[in-house]
Formats: sequence, C-alpha cells, structure tokens
Amino acid sequence: MNVVFLGPPGAGKGTQAETISKKRNMEHVSTGDLLREAVQGGTATGMKAKKYMEKGLLVPDELVVDIVADRMSKGGHDSSFLLDGFPRNLAQAKALDQTLKGLGNKVDVVFYFAISEDMAVKRLTGRWLCSSCGANYHELYMPPEKAGICDKCGKPLGQRPDDKVETVKKRLKVYREQTAGLIDYYERKGVLKTIDAEQRAELIHESICKTLDTPSKEEIYDRV
Ligand code: AMP
Repeated sequence: MNVVFLGPPGAGKGTQAETISKKRNMEHVSTGDLLREAVQGGTATGMKAKKYMEKGLLVPDELVVDIVADRMSKGGHDSSFLLDGFPRNLAQAKALDQTLKGLGNKVDVVFYFAISEDMAVKRLTGRWLCSSCGANYHELYMPPEKAGICDKCGKPLGQRPDDKVETVKKRLKVYREQTAGLIDYYERKGVLKTIDAEQRAELIHESICKTLDTPSKEEIYDRV
C-alpha cells in the first residue's frame, strides 16, 4: 500500500509519518529530510537545493523527482511507501504516478492534513530541535525543562532556519499557490481522505490507522 501525506508545513505530517511508518513497516520518504541530508552532506543536489530551501521556495522538480525515484528504487518491489512532503505540485504528482507505475503500483490513499494557517504558523515558529541528538520540542506544546537546552543530552537547542516567521509565511504562500491544488487532483482519483490536523496527535494517529485498516472496495471485490 502506498500512502501520501499532503498538507501545509506545520500540519504534523512528519511526526505522524515517523510513527506510522515504523508501526506498519513502511518506507518513510520525506523529501524535506532527504534534501536537508543532501545540504548537510554538501552534495551537488544539496548545494543547488540550499538557496531555494532557505527562502522557503520549492526546490526545482527535476532535483526532487530524481531524489525520490532513487530512494524508491532502493526500497524493493514489495515495499509500501509513505510519502511525506512529496508531491508538492502537479508535475511531481504525475512523476510519482509514473514512478509507481514502473514498480507495478499506484497511490492508494492520500491523507490531507487540514489545519488553519494561524495554527500552522504557531506550530512551526515554536519548534526547536536538538542539533546533537535530534530531539524535538515546542515552546508552547512541549517545552524543554530548561529553556534552550535539550532534556535528553544537555546540548543547546536550535531552530530550523526555514522556521523563522518570515520564511514560514513564504512557505505557506507557496503551499497555497502550488500544492493545495493537489487536494482536487487526488479527490478526483477517489483516494483522498481528509484528517482534522488540529486535533491531538494521538487522535490523528488513530484516525489514520482506522482508514489504513479498512479494506478498499477493490480489496473487498478481490476477496469475493
Ligand atoms: P519540509 O521539511 O517538507 O517542510 O521541506 C523543507 C523544504 O524543502 C521546503 O520548504 C522546500 O524548499 C524543500 N522541499 C521539500 N519537499 C519538496 C518537494 N516535494 N518539492 C520541492 N521542494 C521541496
């Protein structure tokens, strides 16, 4: 089964993708993570991607599509993929359909994480990360015991450069203009499932699992 998490930055896609992919043995493909790794590793792709990411803009399709196809080809034929942050425009959605077709597969479910822009801004601008052990915090919802210091390893916390308020606003504008149209694309394919992403993380998790555990019409027909 191949699943896409669609929604604005700050909707909680990454958090859910981590737990769901582990629990259900799926390959978690986060283009944001893959691009940040490429930037940190100083690869040619990373060097090209960096200037777009810093400004909150989408990285050109050809770079992202190649990174995803490469990652998926390493997953093996029987893999289930959970795509988080990809596709982000129509060209990427069509490229994903092609890549999956090549693997004899398709997009089965798209979860649209619905959240207001105000809430997304609050979530992103309050997010703090430990650069040493990777632990996540939020100044309102999950503050560390001592401000600015990681509870787990005692190292200083930092903010993702693109979580600064002006860049967050830019990222949301880019989402509205280039990504939100995919809601319609997947709705017309009959695979869209809307999730209230303003709920508590546990409730979002339950709702996703419930959908994934419900057999599709095709599966029911196959069994008869
Ligand atoms: P994310 O962690 O998903 O919010 O992504 C962080 C940044 O990486 C985005 O603001 C974009 O600059 C870039 N990025 C991630 N995924 C994509 C994608 N599918 N297409 C283009 N750029 C992307």
